[in-house]
Amino acid sequence: MELLIKNGFVYDPLNGIDGEIMDLAIRDGEIVDRLNERRAEKIDASGMIVMPGGVDIHCHIAGAEVNTGRLLRPEDHFRDFEHKTSITRSGVGHSIPSTFTTGYRYSRMGYTTIMNPSMPPLEAKHTHEELNDTPMLDKATYPLLGDWWFVLEYLKDGSIDELARHVAWIMTSTKGYAIKIVNPGGLEAWGYGQNVHSLGDQIPNFCITPRDIIRGLCKVNKLLNLPHTIHVHTNNLGQPGNYATTLETMKSVEDLASENKPAIHITHCQFSAFKGEDWRTLESGAEEIANYVNCHSHVTMDMGQVIFADTTTMTADGPFQFDLYRLTGNKWVNHDVETETSAGIVPFRYRRKSYVHAIQWSIGLELALLIKDPWKILLTTDHPNGGPFTSYPRIIAWLISKEARKATMKRLNPRARSRNLLSSISRELTFQDIAIMTRAGQAKALRLNSKGHLGVGADADVAIYDVNPKTTDPSRQYKAVRKAFKHVAHTIKGGEIVVKQDNVVQQVSGSTIWLDLQTSEPAEINEDMKRRFREYWTVEYDNYPVSDHYIGNSQPITVRAQV
Ligand SMILES: [Zn+2]
Repeated sequence: MELLIKNGFVYDPLNGIDGEIMDLAIRDGEIVDRLNERRAEKIDASGMIVMPGGVDIHCHIAGAEVNTGRLLRPEDHFRDFEHKTSITRSGVGHSIPSTFTTGYRYSRMGYTTIMNPSMPPLEAKHTHEELNDTPMLDKATYPLLGDWWFVLEYLKDGSIDELARHVAWIMTSTKGYAIKIVNPGGLEAWGYGQNVHSLGDQIPNFCITPRDIIRGLCKVNKLLNLPHTIHVHTNNLGQPGNYATTLETMKSVEDLASENKPAIHITHCQFSAFKGEDWRTLESGAEEIANYVNCHSHVTMDMGQVIFADTTTMTADGPFQFDLYRLTGNKWVNHDVETETSAGIVPFRYRRKSYVHAIQWSIGLELALLIKDPWKILLTTDHPNGGPFTSYPRIIAWLISKEARKATMKRLNPRARSRNLLSSISRELTFQDIAIMTRAGQAKALRLNSKGHLGVGADADVAIYDVNPKTTDPSRQYKAVRKAFKHVAHTIKGGEIVVKQDNVVQQVSGSTIWLDLQTSEPAEINEDMKRRFREYWTVEYDNYPVSDHYIGNSQPITVRAQV
């Protein structure tokens, strides 16, 4: 398989290429230096933008929680469906699409790699089965470890090395990619109908605090040489005044950062950047957070942008979802995943005329525009929490065009309009910034070395968008840009053309990326621990690990740990 993409405007930030007209050569699924032009299939990308395939660091697309959301919301499905074609399967879903539809829709926007951020280890097998069922994309998933009982027990005993070996075991056993922490300590407290409210609160029965969990797992992350940092959904998410908790969370690991390497990723930061005493006095805390991030190199974050649409919220943050249920009176699912984590699901509609929702919309964009370095703030909606991933092109339009922001702002709640910071921001991002925030920066934060760039040896995952950066003024012609990013001209996955002019022309399965962590000694899984598995969980130890046959196309990355 040889493919030549000719004459496109190439945006490849990791290799310092900013809109140069270049050819791109592909052989056997990789970017190569050159190839025999006569033999190769050619794509004429003249007048078009060529970028690495999109990467999404945080989107809920698979697993028990997502599937329960699908069951909860038939109304999400019958309004939005896809017909089958000779190549693709039919499917349904606006905010929680079925597996195949999820794959096709990402691919039609030029995305090729996604990270599923919220996997209770107990439900790892189900998660992998659904990921296998999601075509067109490479994918990975993060086990939820912040409130896993063994983690809390090791932290209580102060045994960080032993904890690191245990995390290596669970990461490799569940075929995970990064340590996910959600409302640390709060999920354990939720088992008793409680929550934690600050980094110093005591967690019931364990004599440790949320700060101990964040710092402990941050140290473990370093000891294991994990490619990504700890991936943190902060305490007090969704509560007015929580920007202070977010600042404190970032500060809590400042001393653990090394050599300009990030130590923490704050996910869907919009939901954690609220200032004010209550909903009535809610304001944006984006400026305070941006000021901190601009002065520190140990943090990356993603936006969690809100879209004015009907969507479905779902997180492991059980107490937050309970608050949302009380606020909306909507239907609600609450789930306590044994001794690991919790989960909640509530349908939600973000409305322009709601003061709170309009402020939330501004906060996400303010974060993206006030944080000077686009490598530190990545584009997400925390799909489907802030809105469906299919809205990314709209976010791109808001980021590149003040006029696009103004057009939306005109229709916002007037009080929110008069109080938001966004109207005073004139920054407009470039295509290179967008390439960073939607692929290069995401791959870098994940240290997925063969993704997010177009250098020789990179995976041949490429997106071609039909918009000419030389003749299009994105600031004014943002609608044309939005359209181009919504309906890709070509998506190339692993060297194969999979989408042409917004149509899926070939279905590929993609692979599952996971960490094969090698420690000098294995984690101690002794008889006492097996007994505890029997007592704590409904699944016995031997049935716990995800065996190979659950993974379709397995792509392990071997990492040698320091313990
Ligand atoms: Zn999330």
